[in-house]
Amino acid sequence: MTGADSLYYLDAARSPEQRSYMESLEDGGVCIFCPEHVAEYQEHPVEHRGEHWYVTRNSYPYAGTVAHYLIVPLRHVTAFDELPDAAGAELWSLQRVLKDRHAPLATATVMRSGDMRYNGGSVAHLHAHFVILDDAPAETVRFKVSA
Ligand SMILES: [Zn+2]
Repeated sequence: MTGADSLYYLDAARSPEQRSYMESLEDGGVCIFCPEHVAEYQEHPVEHRGEHWYVTRNSYPYAGTVAHYLIVPLRHVTAFDELPDAAGAELWSLQRVLKDRHAPLATATVMRSGDMRYNGGSVAHLHAHFVILDDAPAETVRFKVSA
């Protein structure tokens, strides 16, 4: 059952393999975004660790992106407003650093917040997708952000 306290939203799985992987993590009580699990469960290392957030690259970058970062709170929270306003300022600063690294024409930030049964998310732990966009992508970058 997926409820308000679940770590994963199984119906958001994009394949049967991903669904069973999420089920095993849920059963084990493992949140792949909590800092103590990042080294084991994320393909890429933490590139930056701030006061409120860490930055890593998405293990599954979306088609059409030049680079796909995840900016993840160090605390396990499910909604942006569980963090102090200072975390918002740090998020801005991290995006600036990542943008400057690539000097793209455009970027996009997607942060789902709240109950993942209704926001299109699959992992309860809040995270921002920060994508560096291509000026001529092979595919349009798409994010689902609702039920
Ligand atoms: Zn977590």
